Amino acid sequence: MLIGAGADPKVCETSLNPSAIHRLGQRAKAMVEAAREEVRALVGAPKSAHVIFCSGATEANNHIFTLAARGARARASTGVGKQIVVTSFEHPAVLEPAQELARLGSSLAIIPVDTSGVLDQAAFEKALGTDTQIVSVMCANNETGLRFPVASLARTVKEKAPQAIFHTDAAQAIGKMPVNFAELGVDALSLSGHKFGAPAGIGALILAESVAAYPMIRGGTQESRLRGGTENVLGIVAIGVAAREARTSLTERIESMRSGAALVWQEISSGVPDALLRGSIDAGLPNTLSVTFPGCNADDLVVALDIAGVCVSAGAACSSGKPDPSHVLRAMGLTGAEARSTIRISLEPFMDRETVLRGADAIVKSVALMREQRCAHAV
Ligand code: PLP
Repeated sequence: MLIGAGADPKVCETSLNPSAIHRLGQRAKAMVEAAREEVRALVGAPKSAHVIFCSGATEANNHIFTLAARGARARASTGVGKQIVVTSFEHPAVLEPAQELARLGSSLAIIPVDTSGVLDQAAFEKALGTDTQIVSVMCANNETGLRFPVASLARTVKEKAPQAIFHTDAAQAIGKMPVNFAELGVDALSLSGHKFGAPAGIGALILAESVAAYPMIRGGTQESRLRGGTENVLGIVAIGVAAREARTSLTERIESMRSGAALVWQEISSGVPDALLRGSIDAGLPNTLSVTFPGCNADDLVVALDIAGVCVSAGAACSSGKPDPSHVLRAMGLTGAEARSTIRISLEPFMDRETVLRGADAIVKSVALMREQRCAHAV
């Protein structure tokens, strides 16, 4: 019981239950709805689209594959397909649900990319047909920053497989490039709050009205019955604030990250001339550099840099510690040794030049030290 008949009861609003009908619950509900509109505005989703808050992009991706498993279609048409089309660049949060559906009887086409990370358009078109149930292509890759032409792929899907749900995992793209649900022409989009300034543990699935919605979690009327359970009000309020920030300062964010990344690469390429950039600072995400340092073990480099106060990762952060080399780098044709010598460097928006230079300098020095030590061991 909360006693607060007065004007301003002293409670933490974000710990209130938005489903409660008393005034405090309604205040929490209003905050949740305001955040929903901020997220909708961030991704340019129409009023008719569902914005379903959830724990993050992993859950959102699983939700869309759950829908597909139930036979949901993008638009009413005859027949429900059994085929799934994804790219070899997708995050495990797409690949694993897709593989699970394949185990349950769907067929799965994984479209390859070339050594520059460009999708094999011919294989993509060939895979699409009247049996295609869901197509999932990420906006931008989390390890290389490489982008896919989602809008034009969506047009191809509408033409060749109009019944298919076209989903994009935009977890890495939001806050780093313009992402507009309506302009992309997708049916579903996943996003993750911690990629653009909200805390970890909050994200959303945006779902076009035309897709037959189906719950991810049952047991409550929350999120239009599509995701039961008391809402994470604190996370939702935070993602609303982060969404507004990301939307209103997108151009400045992009410029600051791109100039920081260019500076890092300039320092690395002059300090370590045989370093190889996978991807492109101009055409890819402005903040992500995937760099191979031939002969250096990426895991050792990550540890050395951590000691120097610089946080980078070997492959995707969420797959660190896995013995296998990155599936993304392997998909681009890197050998196991090359993939194991590659680190991902990410920049935050608005980092000052000094900090960026200090980070780049630590990378150059650590690589030189590792190489020296290896030579010393070899003597
Ligand atoms: N999809 C992509 C492209 C990602 O980069 C990530 C996380 O790094 C995810 C999905 C998973 O997001 P979350 O941590 O919000 O579940």
